[in-house]
Amino acid sequence: MSKIWYPYAQMKNLDVQYKILKAKGTCLYLDNGEKLIDAISSWWCVIHGYNHPEITRSAKQQLDKMAHVMLGGLTHNPACSLAAKLVEITPYKLKHVFFADSGSVGVEVALKMAVQYWHNMNQPQKHKFLAFKKAYHGDTCGVMSISDPDDGMHTLFKDIIAENYFLDAPEHGYTAKEKYLVTDLEKLDDFLRNHHYELAAFIVEPLMQAAGGFNFYSAEYLKEAGKLCDKYNVLLIFDEVATGFGRTGTLFAADQTKTSPDIMILGKGLSAGYTGISATLASTEIFESFYGPDESNAFMHGPTFMGNPLACAIALKSIEIFERDQYLAKISKIESVLKKELFKISSAKIKNIRVLGATGVIEVKEKSSLAGIQEFAVKNGIWLRPFGNYVYTMPPYIIEAKELKMITETLSKFFKRL
Ligand SMILES: *Cc1c(COP(=O)(O)O)cnc(C)c1O
Repeated sequence: MSKIWYPYAQMKNLDVQYKILKAKGTCLYLDNGEKLIDAISSWWCVIHGYNHPEITRSAKQQLDKMAHVMLGGLTHNPACSLAAKLVEITPYKLKHVFFADSGSVGVEVALKMAVQYWHNMNQPQKHKFLAFKKAYHGDTCGVMSISDPDDGMHTLFKDIIAENYFLDAPEHGYTAKEKYLVTDLEKLDDFLRNHHYELAAFIVEPLMQAAGGFNFYSAEYLKEAGKLCDKYNVLLIFDEVATGFGRTGTLFAADQTKTSPDIMILGKGLSAGYTGISATLASTEIFESFYGPDESNAFMHGPTFMGNPLACAIALKSIEIFERDQYLAKISKIESVLKKELFKISSAKIKNIRVLGATGVIEVKEKSSLAGIQEFAVKNGIWLRPFGNYVYTMPPYIIEAKELKMITETLSKFFKRL
């Protein structure tokens, strides 16, 4: 029996056959001497590939100074500099940074901030959230209450999690036609009109719902949604844990929406996969509402590892390289190759193929069509982890065109066999 309890897995028959000894660039090196190109960046976070020499050097330099110091009553340069950098590069309303150690906790922090903000504003009845169906915001109890209510993952816990509201997510893609946009926005408008008095915030994964089914939707929708939230006095929260740091083609998905959320969460790519860290950014209006004569208005939250200096030093170096080496151009090249190569694949089993930024997705009609795809990819030197009806690639941005083609050709060969 396994000593490790693995994620999202029935342990009874689980046979984890791939042991990784080291990783470098886009490649994972197995204990049997083989290597695999990681087509999914270890759950989308390893944006510079593994063991990037400059990031590794920064991490070592930081280790020589201090691995960790708490932020309770103390501060340090790595956290100060990272907070300043994040404020500089994120949308205009976001001016204050609360650090935590994972995406899920970052979203928990956002929810608590939003509820307490309305409490501070003497509107404590505004404590519910509106989220999209198919949303995924993490696995802890608070965020389960805003993740898809219908999928199998969380239904078991429905009696212990808060009851929130869900809206059908826009389903007509990144370039949705005007008429769909209008109907989708009408649905949102109706909902907000009827429920704004009890809503703290509308929370979305902007442009791309990731783990809930890779649903892409339009920037125009979010721009108009931002206006509706203003009109009805509801906070707008962007969970950019998956979309942040280039995944949808811009540094943040928010950059395409010409709107600024009131709260935004960053995770995954923030530390380039080196360590756990997340950042919850808030507007000055929210931050200032917590000012008061005593502790009663203070934000009572503080993860042990918040602002961990090692994580902050790594994140700073990662952002520096992203800007210096023109990653957006690299991502745009990845997008063109994915479009050219994936759109060629055709099979009666496929329902839809879509590409946005450095994300390519093949959705099949029946989940069973993907049986055996992981083993097939491994034989072809590629690491993939399909789920449900989706097989996707979200490669590290340093990937070479020929490696990317190995990924798309493997997918193509798999569907030809069927
Ligand atoms: C992965 C993810 C999370 C959760 O992050 P963890 O670091 O796994 O806790 C939250 N929101 C979105 C959109 C994600 O993709």
